[in-house]
Amino acid sequence: MIQISFHPYKLVPLKAVNAVTTTTAREGALLKVEWEGMGIGYADLHPWPEFGDLSLQQQLEDMRRKKFSAQVQQSIWFAERDVQARHDKKSILSYGVPVKNNYLISSYADLTPALVKAIQEQGFETIKLKCGKDFIGEVRALNSLDGTGLRIRLDFNASIDEAAFRKFLGELSSEVLASIEYVEDPFEYKAVHWQEMNELVPLAIDNELAKVEWSKVSARPFAAVVVKPAKTNVEDVLEQCLRRNIKMTITSNMDHPVGVMHAVAVAGEYKKSHPDLMLEAGCLTHSLYQAEAFSNLMKTQGPYLHPVPGVGIGFDQLLAEVPWQPLVRL
Ligand code: MG
Repeated sequence: MIQISFHPYKLVPLKAVNAVTTTTAREGALLKVEWEGMGIGYADLHPWPEFGDLSLQQQLEDMRRKKFSAQVQQSIWFAERDVQARHDKKSILSYGVPVKNNYLISSYADLTPALVKAIQEQGFETIKLKCGKDFIGEVRALNSLDGTGLRIRLDFNASIDEAAFRKFLGELSSEVLASIEYVEDPFEYKAVHWQEMNELVPLAIDNELAKVEWSKVSARPFAAVVVKPAKTNVEDVLEQCLRRNIKMTITSNMDHPVGVMHAVAVAGEYKKSHPDLMLEAGCLTHSLYQAEAFSNLMKTQGPYLHPVPGVGIGFDQLLAEVPWQPLVRL
């Protein structure tokens, strides 16, 4: 017997977190999954309808009717991982290796020399800049990184077209261009166009991943896949990447701290099992939102996230105090 309960929450972004969203509060739900005789595991469900996910209300309603979306199935997988770690009385991070994360910058305006100096002193080697809102400002901020030695990831969330992207690249200095590890979702995924562009600058696929028909991918239309284990079965993507020498980055779903800790744990385990395939992770996203009880318990050391006190994903006391609502019994 499995009992699933839920608790809706809101996260308030400090500013717009990418090119296609606003600063209104984001809705998600914590999930408590109780396996009879086994114990309790916790997970997060944080849909991004802007990127094609079913709404939270829809997914909860479907769960009540015992219909589980791919995203909910991943949440339940997270809960299974948590219950196992709680059963072992270990932190969920203890199964993997410590994994470095990129430093996420949601607006070029924050990319000041003072910030660059500070994050390099903290040990960050890679920054990820969300782009697609202000072409001129973004180009200027990027070109100011000349000589810093930082590795650069850009993410357009497919908010521009191919012509605009080519123009953007043309404005970057050759040193900055050479420092780009990859550009995530520059424009809408079309295998032929991406393959051509991937020769110019390494591309990574994230939200556009659903459009990829792996059986038709013969060459490398992208150099890396950004995998959000909150939404995507990691093993399925891993198999495709191994076959084609494509790298992988594990990121959070820009979700609740419960989801972030799960993503970090998955990133650490895959880094341990596939060190050459896995690039730096992108899980340090909790600080995009106003601090709340859960994020206050998260501790970072430069690009690394520490385990949260407790077992499993941690947060033991807070999770015990949540006013859970029963959702479905299986
Ligand atoms: Mg992305």
